[in-house]
Amino acid sequence: MKFDYIIIGGGLCGLSAGIRLAEQGKKTAIVSSGQSALHFCAGSFGLLGKNGDKTVLNPLEELDRLPEKHPYRLMGKDRVKRLATEVPAMLQKAGITVTGSAEANHFTLTPFGKPRPSWLTLNGLPTFSKPDEKPFEKALIVSIKGFLESYPAFMVENLEKKGVCCRVETIDLERLTHLRESNFDMRAASIAKQMDRATIEEFASKINSCAGKDESVLIPAVIGINDERELDRMREMVNNPLYCVPTIPVSVPGLRAQHILQHYFEKLGGTYILGDRVEKGIIEDGIVKALVTTNFGEDHLHADAFILASGNIFGEGIKSNPHDFYEPVFGLDVNYSSNRDEWYAFNFFDAQPYMEYGVEIDNDFHPSLKGIKIKNLFVAGSTLAHCNSLKEDSGAGTAILTGLHTADLAMNI
Ligand SMILES: Cc1cc2nc3c(=O)[nH]c(=O)nc-3n(C[C@H](O)[C@H](O)[C@H](O)COP(=O)(O)OP(=O)(O)OC[C@H]3O[C@@H](n4cnc5c(N)ncnc54)[C@H](O)[C@@H]3O)c2cc1C
Repeated sequence: MKFDYIIIGGGLCGLSAGIRLAEQGKKTAIVSSGQSALHFCAGSFGLLGKNGDKTVLNPLEELDRLPEKHPYRLMGKDRVKRLATEVPAMLQKAGITVTGSAEANHFTLTPFGKPRPSWLTLNGLPTFSKPDEKPFEKALIVSIKGFLESYPAFMVENLEKKGVCCRVETIDLERLTHLRESNFDMRAASIAKQMDRATIEEFASKINSCAGKDESVLIPAVIGINDERELDRMREMVNNPLYCVPTIPVSVPGLRAQHILQHYFEKLGGTYILGDRVEKGIIEDGIVKALVTTNFGEDHLHADAFILASGNIFGEGIKSNPHDFYEPVFGLDVNYSSNRDEWYAFNFFDAQPYMEYGVEIDNDFHPSLKGIKIKNLFVAGSTLAHCNSLKEDSGAGTAILTGLHTADLAMNI
C-alpha cells in the first residue's frame, strides 16, 4: 500500500499532523496501536504552564528560558506563536470548542479543585484568569450516587480556601442503577455512555430542583463523550450556570477530543488504521523505504515521508530495559543517561528525568540512526527528547505544535 505520508501514532500529535496533511489533499495514513495520552487528558491543553518552580503566565515570553534543545526552541518563537494562534480555528473546524490564547495562560480546576494553568480549555470546564482568583461566589458541587471518580470533599476544601461558599448534593439517576451493581462500572466513561437524552433531562431537572439562587453548579465531566453539543443542550436545560469538573482519568473530555479529531481526519480523506502496530521500519541509505506492521505482515506500507508520533514511555514510543532506553520501531538515537541512578528522582512528585528521555533530532526534526540522519523521517510530540510534559504542563502544546510543524516540513522535502 502506498501513501504520500504515513504517521506512526494516532494521539494528539499524530492526529494534528494528519489533519494538516489531509487538509492539503495529501494521501495520508495514521497507524495507531491503541490508547493515546489524550484519553487521560483532563480537558485543558497546556502550552507551557510551568518552568521549574515558576507558574508561567505568558508562555510565549517564557520560551527563551527553556533549554536550548527543547522542541519549542528548535521551532523558534515566531513559528510557535504562529502555529499556536492557528490551533483554536483548526480545533473548531473539527468540532472542538476551546477557550484561551497563547498570549496569556488562564486557569482551570483539577479534579481536586486546585488551579491549573492552561493554554486552551475544552468547552464546559470553568476558566478564570489568575490562580488566586475566586472562580465563583457560591458553588453547588453535584456528585452522582455511587460514582467512583470524583472527590467533592477535596473540591470543597480547595474552593473554600479561595473563599467560595460550597455545598454538595448527591443525585441518583435511574439509568445508572444497573452500573451500581458492579464494583467497577461507576466510572466516568461508563456513565457517559449511559447519558442519553432522557437521562440528561432527568439530571438537569434534578439539578434545577436543588440548586439555590446565585449558585454555580459543578458536575463531574460525564456528559458528551462523542459530541460537545450534548453538553450545550444540558447547559440550556439547567437554570444556573453549569460547569464540568474533570474526573480522574480516563477522562470524558479527552475521549471526546480523540474521537472528534479522528473522525475529522477521516472526513478529510485520511486513513486511520487503528489497532495495528508498526513493528519495524526498513531503512536504506538514510531513507525509510517501508514499514512492517503486525497486521499487514509482508504487505509493507510505503510513503514518500514518515512522521514518528508514537508517544513516550507511556505510549510505548520509547521503551526501556534495565540498561537502556530505546526507540523500538527504527532503533533511532535516543537521549538518556547511561547512569541508571540518574533515570529517576527519589521523590515521586519531583520532575522525573526519564520523562525527558526521547529521540534526538536536528533543527529540521530529522532523527538519526547511529549518527546517520534519516532524511524522509520526522519525529514529533512526546517521542522527542528534552521536554517533560508533566513537569512543564506542556504536553498538548508540544504534541499539537510539533505535529503541525513536522507536517509542514514533510510537505517541503
Ligand atoms: C496520564 C496523563 C495525563 C495527561 N494529562 C494532560 C492534560 O490534562 N493536559 C495536557 O496538556 N497534557 C496532558 N498530558 C500530556 C499530553 O496529553 C501528552 O503529552 C500528549 O497528548 C502526547 O501526545 P502524543 O501524540 O505525542 O503521544 P500519545 O498520546 O502517547 O500517542 C502515541 C500513540 O502512538 C501509538 N503507538 C506507539 N507505538 C506505536 C507503533 N509502533 N505503531 C503504531 N502505533 C504506536 C500509541 O498507542 C498511542 O496511541 C497527559 C499525559 C499523561 C500520560
